[in-house]
Amino acid sequence: MTNKAYNPFLTAQKQFDKAADLLELDEATRDFLRNPMREFHFTIPVHMDDGTMKVFRAFRIQHNDARGPAKGGIRFHPQETVDTVKALSMWMTWKTSVVDIPLGGGKGGVICDPHHLSAFEQEQICRGWIRQVVKNIGPFSDIPAPDVMTNPQHMLWMLDEYETITGARYPGAITGKPIGMGGSQGRTEATGYGTIITVREALKELKIKPEKTTASFQGFGNVSQYAIELYHKMGGKTLCVSSWDNKESKSYSFRKKAGINLKELQGITDIFGGIDKIKAKELGYEVLSGEAWIEQDVDILVPAALENQIRGENADKISKQVKIISEGANGPTTPEADIILNKKKIFVVPDFLANAGGVVCSYFEQVQNNMNYYWAKDEVLAKLDLKMTTAFAAVSDFSKQHNIQMRDAAYVISVNRVAQACQSRGWV
Ligand code: GLU
Repeated sequence: MTNKAYNPFLTAQKQFDKAADLLELDEATRDFLRNPMREFHFTIPVHMDDGTMKVFRAFRIQHNDARGPAKGGIRFHPQETVDTVKALSMWMTWKTSVVDIPLGGGKGGVICDPHHLSAFEQEQICRGWIRQVVKNIGPFSDIPAPDVMTNPQHMLWMLDEYETITGARYPGAITGKPIGMGGSQGRTEATGYGTIITVREALKELKIKPEKTTASFQGFGNVSQYAIELYHKMGGKTLCVSSWDNKESKSYSFRKKAGINLKELQGITDIFGGIDKIKAKELGYEVLSGEAWIEQDVDILVPAALENQIRGENADKISKQVKIISEGANGPTTPEADIILNKKKIFVVPDFLANAGGVVCSYFEQVQNNMNYYWAKDEVLAKLDLKMTTAFAAVSDFSKQHNIQMRDAAYVISVNRVAQACQSRGWV
């Protein structure tokens, strides 16, 4: 989330400006793409279980819909800010573009902490969110999905409210729904699996066998847990994961030199990805202070929590052994840190490529909703693999041809596609 010294929207604009310079974009196109097309700021009053009334602030921001309806998740977080949501909406535009799916970019948020809200209070937030934006979202204009601390149940409450108000069934109005209620097989796994597909491709380029590698992950939520699952299937060994301790408002890293056991850790983790420290110690894990995950002697680092995690002041602590960073989270690396990673010659798979698996599978979910016919899990995952591998190859080829970083290559490809769509529509 945003803290006083860090504004993710400025980072997103800085990254965009670099791509705009490389593409020599004209002034009007730059102005248009530097800011969201539409912003909705609103409040959601909720009857709390204790009889009081509480008002939550919320947002939906549509950065760009030139290539298709705006698309992107909704986050529930106590430190959510409008600038964070603006940055994330912009990153969604580049994300759908880099994997070449016919969608744009948007993002939503509610300032709230689900750790302290009952299921009924959360349901009211979901329904209240929809009531405020029902005229501005829909299967052909803007399609929400899950993100940090939101899940398939939240999406179903939102869809139900949307369908109740509009008076018909529109399963494609929201993605990330539960399976059997219009959700797609593989959607829950998709972001984490997609991140590891990019790790696999990066390892191929560096001619390293996955089974000879070790990794450290930041975060133990949905993205990280499935990323670790696929990484272990590929033969890799995870030495460390970090997890947020909500009671203490800080994170801890959990290390086992012999390699962590995913199932064992999942058994002592809450639904938000918080690992129980006492039980972890009993199971033989070393419990280290938060940033330890970044300092480990491993080959691969996967930041899969929030933005602003690899910064100018901690990027130097990254071990010489690290060869690949694949950004499972949105915006984990600041531009200052990027310079250091570049000097260290680390192969960085940028966030909007590395974590695009979720939205790719959301797109597949919509396609299945439109056909009203559902694919088997293997079919979904094979399609996901093809999309991610193709996008990775295009970015990697471009970066080699033009001798630029993977992040810059991904930006140039994505921004160019969006700029062309805006120009050919006659918008700029
Ligand atoms: N929230 C996810 C992301 O940041 C998924 C978005 C979607 O499926 O629309 O990519």
